Amino acid sequence: MSDIPAPAQAAAPPRQAAAHVTADDDDAAWARRCPKVLLHEHLDGGLRTTTLMDLLRARNLPAPAADVAGLDAWFDARAHAGSLEEYLRGFALTVAAMASPAALERVAVEAAEDARADGVVLAEFRIAPLLFEPWGVDGDAAVEALLAGLARSPLPSGLIVCAMRQEAPARIAAAADLALRWQGRGVVGFDLAGPEAGWPAAPHAALLRRVRDAGLGLTLHAGEADAGTRVLEAAALGARRIGHGVRLAELLDAPAHADALARLRADGVHLEICPTSNLHTGAARDLATHPIHALWRAGLSLSFHTDNRLISRTRHSDEALALRRHGFSRADLQAMGVAAARAAFLPAAWRDRAAAACAAGPPHPVTDPAPQPPAAGGTHG
Ligand SMILES: [Zn+2]
Repeated sequence: MSDIPAPAQAAAPPRQAAAHVTADDDDAAWARRCPKVLLHEHLDGGLRTTTLMDLLRARNLPAPAADVAGLDAWFDARAHAGSLEEYLRGFALTVAAMASPAALERVAVEAAEDARADGVVLAEFRIAPLLFEPWGVDGDAAVEALLAGLARSPLPSGLIVCAMRQEAPARIAAAADLALRWQGRGVVGFDLAGPEAGWPAAPHAALLRRVRDAGLGLTLHAGEADAGTRVLEAAALGARRIGHGVRLAELLDAPAHADALARLRADGVHLEICPTSNLHTGAARDLATHPIHALWRAGLSLSFHTDNRLISRTRHSDEALALRRHGFSRADLQAMGVAAARAAFLPAAWRDRAAAACAAGPPHPVTDPAPQPPAAGGTHG
C-alpha cells in the first residue's frame, strides 16, 4: 500500500496526466472489488427501481410506467434531460413514494446494502428530510427512520442533512437545526442542495458558520450549475467539501484566482466529483474532456461519486470504471479513495480503516470475503 500517492497537499507537484492508460475487462471486476468511499449520494435519487414501484403501488400513487422495465426506461430518458433543473424533476416521483417512515427506512438500508455489495467500505448518504413534511412526515421522524435503516446494514455510514437552497431562509435554518439536533446520533454533515444558479450560499453565511462552529461537517453543492467562483465562495464560507465543484477548472489558469486556489489546496478542501451526473445535467460535455482531468492534474483533493444511482443509472463501481476508461490508472482511483476517506465526516478510526483499505486495493485472492466494517462500537457514532 505504500506506493499509493498521498492526497493532494499544498506542496505536492502537479500530477502526471495518464493519457495512455487503457481499461480492459478485468477493470470492471476490479472496479467492483476495489474498496471505495462514497461521500456524495442522494438517498432520494438512488432507490432501486423495484422498490420505487413497490412504494408507488403501496401509496396508490400514479407511476409513469406500468412495470419495472417501463420505469427503468422512463428514468433512462430523464437521465439525459441535459440541465440540472430538468434532471431534478425526477425527484418529485421518488420523494412522494418515500414519504413514510417505513419507506425511508427501507430506502436507507437498501442504499447501504447496495453500496456494500458494490465494494463501498465507508459511506455518507444525504437527503433533505424536510421534503417529506408536506406528506405528514416531519424532519425528526424522517431522520430517525433513515438512521434506523442505515443502522440495519453493517456498512459504516452516516447521514448528511441537506437544505434545499431555493427555499425560504427560515426553512434552510430549520434544516440546519434538524441536523444539529441529530449531530452525534448519526448525522455527520450539512449541505445546500437543489438548483444552484440563482441561489448562492453566501446569504446563509451566518447559518453556515453556526453549523460549522458546532462541529458538524459542512459540504456545499457549488460550481455545478454556477460559476467556478462559487467553489471559492463555498470554501470561504467554511465548507470542507464541495459537491461537484467541476467549474473550478475554469479558474485554474486565472492569475486573479491563484491565491484563492492555493488556499483551497493548502486547506485540503475536497471535491466530490460525480462524473456521470455531470454529463446528465450538462455540467460536462463528455468524460474525455471532463474537468476532473484538469482538477486532478492541478493537485486538488478529489474523488468520484454517484450523486444519484437511480436518476443517473449508475453505481459507484461504474464511476470508477468510467474514469479508468478515460485515462485514470488504478493507482489514481485508489488514491482518490484514500482522499475521500480522509475527507469523510465520520469518526477518525473509520476514516483511517477505510483509507487503508482503499490504499491496499481489492482483497486477495479473489475469493476473499467482502470488506468488513470496523468493529468499533456503535454504528453511526
Ligand atoms: Zn448532489
